[in-house]
Amino acid sequence: MILFKNVKALQQHLADFKSGTGNLGWVPTMGALHAGHISLLNAARSKCRWVICSIFVNPTQFNDRNDFRNYPITLDKDISLLEENGVDLLFLPGMNEIYPDGTERLEKYNLGKLESILEGQYRPGHFQGVCQVLHRLGDILKPDHLFMGQKDFQQCMVVKRLLEITHSGITLHTCSTLREPDGLAMSSRNMRLNETQRKNAIAIYEALNFLKKNLKKGSLVELIEKAKDILSSRDFRTDYVAIADPATLETCKNWDGQQALVGLIAAFQQEIRLIDNMVLAGNIY
Ligand code: AMP
Repeated sequence: MILFKNVKALQQHLADFKSGTGNLGWVPTMGALHAGHISLLNAARSKCRWVICSIFVNPTQFNDRNDFRNYPITLDKDISLLEENGVDLLFLPGMNEIYPDGTERLEKYNLGKLESILEGQYRPGHFQGVCQVLHRLGDILKPDHLFMGQKDFQQCMVVKRLLEITHSGITLHTCSTLREPDGLAMSSRNMRLNETQRKNAIAIYEALNFLKKNLKKGSLVELIEKAKDILSSRDFRTDYVAIADPATLETCKNWDGQQALVGLIAAFQQEIRLIDNMVLAGNIY
């Protein structure tokens, strides 16, 4: 694996390396890598001749300063994992490479309703930050394929929109969520959970399964309240439990028994915020 920290050196390399030899698959991450990230890299490997991983903890997407400050960093381990998994290139830029003119006057993107619902409502500015960094990284790397996790369901929708409005020509692939044996969705933030919080964290998966098993035609209000109870019984402070149309993320209060649905949860174990989702009805990919 070749590691680049500098945009010009990477671009020079890509210009030689990509020419005539096939396509480039990109997996953007914020590091603290786990098997979920590796599954995206494997998906990229199965589709693309060249695989690049980027690691950049992007400050503009953190609405909560403490979350940014406490974001886990495990760089040596990340590099070993990437090498073990046959990744061709790692891009590890510093702030100056990504935001050479600072972060004050960055582009704003028209994300429509996605910006103000669910994650957008509870993390103001988050998706603008996600778009800023991915737009910049995409311009640097010019990949053919981009691999992201369904774990961040709304983020995938936002990125799809970003790729359209910027006419990027990049194809987005949404990959399924990798889980721990007890069902907890793998996440870099899981590293911050203490033993008790880790045990409690399973309640998110339980609540999603509860929604799926008990889904019935008609009102969904009581079902959602019961899922919230599952979370609060395990010391979760809930931002939202939502059942929504996977195409728009408009929340659904009444189900006709036919419509595709996704359940989405965001909740805190003390200051650690976890998210997850599950398809409840229909096939969406
Ligand atoms: P992050 O480093 O948290 O920004 O995540 C980088 C990418 O990995 C995003 O596309 C995430 O959706 C994806 N990802 C995170 N957790 C998982 C998981 N458990 N399974 C599959 N993909 C994941």
